[in-house]
Amino acid sequence: MSAKIIDGKALSLSIRESLKTEAARFESKYGRKVGLAVIKAGNNPASEVYVRNKIKACEDVGVKSFSYNFPEETGEAELSELIAALNGDANVDGILVQLPLPQGIDEKKMLALISPEKDADGFHAVNAGGLMLGLPCTKPCTPAGIIELIKSTGERIAGKNAVVIGRSNIVGKPAAMLLLAENATVTICHSKTADLKSHTKNADIIVAAVGIKEFVKGDMIKDGAIVIDVGMNRADGKLYGDVAFDQAIEKASYITPVPGGVGPMTVTMLIKNTIESAFRCKEN
Ligand code: NAP
Repeated sequence: MSAKIIDGKALSLSIRESLKTEAARFESKYGRKVGLAVIKAGNNPASEVYVRNKIKACEDVGVKSFSYNFPEETGEAELSELIAALNGDANVDGILVQLPLPQGIDEKKMLALISPEKDADGFHAVNAGGLMLGLPCTKPCTPAGIIELIKSTGERIAGKNAVVIGRSNIVGKPAAMLLLAENATVTICHSKTADLKSHTKNADIIVAAVGIKEFVKGDMIKDGAIVIDVGMNRADGKLYGDVAFDQAIEKASYITPVPGGVGPMTVTMLIKNTIESAFRCKEN
């Protein structure tokens, strides 16, 4: 079997078309553009790229971005002050703090300062709790994008065995919660999982969010599985996923490439979250 490629770039572009309409509808109804504040601190080269992509996506869709760049030696006080000001700024509907923050800054503390209504990344405890309880909330971008990618195959999620490898707060755990909400039977694996292969071999859906280049090999994949590769691992000047793509494509029915799979969807879901927050704030 040779898997069909799930084209995250194309899906993302088509979602952005409908987001353009929503952003324009907001502007004509409320007399201003939807606004997203993007805060970056330090000189992490990957962060530079991610922030650039996010600002570009705002431009594409018609969302106004407010960009804040702090040097490596920034302290918590400066960031806290800015977040407080943005929480109160009527032109800002979403706030994004690009991670990682420089050493010495408590990321959890900074993220907790963002008003849950403006938490564009869906990382705040109020939104994480809402996801757990099945309440309306802002969903984390990467997991939300993963669900859209799986749905784009036309395959049913309900009743499938889904294995999520990784249990981070930003990818693994929320991806598992969203799959559960779609009525998959979900197993979460991590570095202490015994016999990982016995789990993945039984999976109709594999979400790999490990952070290790080509970690998931072909012999770990059941024939016909849907494989979503979240990994973004840089080596020899190239980007690699968490899945050994050349092996996996022979086993899976559908697979996301790296790059061009989950990555573009993450950015698009960020813009979607911001537009939804803007409407929610006006209409609730
Ligand atoms: P993370 O916080 O480092 O979490 C990695 C997870 O993988 C942990 O839960 C860890 O288990 C598990 N793990 C590590 N080694 C393992 C092993 N040998 N067997 C099984 N599980 C193992 O990473 P993350 O933030 O979730 O990100 C994961 C990957 O996705 C990274 O490559 C990252 O760059 C990428 N990413 C991509 C996007 C995107 O938009 N495409 C967005 C976010 C992240 P323990 O909990 O036991 O340590």
